[in-house]
Amino acid sequence: MKSSRPFSKSKKKKRWTLKLSDHFSKRDFVCRCGKCNQLVKVSLGLVGGLEWLREKLGQRITILKGYMCADAVDQHRSLRRNFYHMGVAAQIKLETGNQFYELVKTALSIPEFKGIGLHIESQVLHLDTRKSPERLIWIEKNDEVTPIAEADIDSYFTIQSQPIS
Ligand SMILES: [Zn+2]
Repeated sequence: MKSSRPFSKSKKKKRWTLKLSDHFSKRDFVCRCGKCNQLVKVSLGLVGGLEWLREKLGQRITILKGYMCADAVDQHRSLRRNFYHMGVAAQIKLETGNQFYELVKTALSIPEFKGIGLHIESQVLHLDTRKSPERLIWIEKNDEVTPIAEADIDSYFTIQSQPIS
């Protein structure tokens, strides 16, 4: 009588997966233009940096924007947006809470992030892992970009005291 082996190897393992890391999947990074069929391209360096950021913060991160397809990028025509098309940029937000300062500070501690853009009012952070020896930091407001030095970041989070004249 034939008996099936009790511990046959599972063949359930999928050949492909949407999962990129412990906390992120390709779905998080798909193009949201609504015209392409959710195209996606994302560098593992970016995912690694975001995973590290999530670990350090111990908080969930929402990816608001990941990959942008050629058509989506074309509408904006800015160099910064090109990093989205290259799959090395993401716009993120903490899923809960009001700890944008901690988010920014933690992102600064991760060397992979070479481009860091702060949308302070909406508490949204742009991060990219462009190939660059130097890090660029800027404040973004109404599509206006102001480069800032890392040492000056704190001043954007504290109320400036002014003498009453
Ligand atoms: Zn698209």
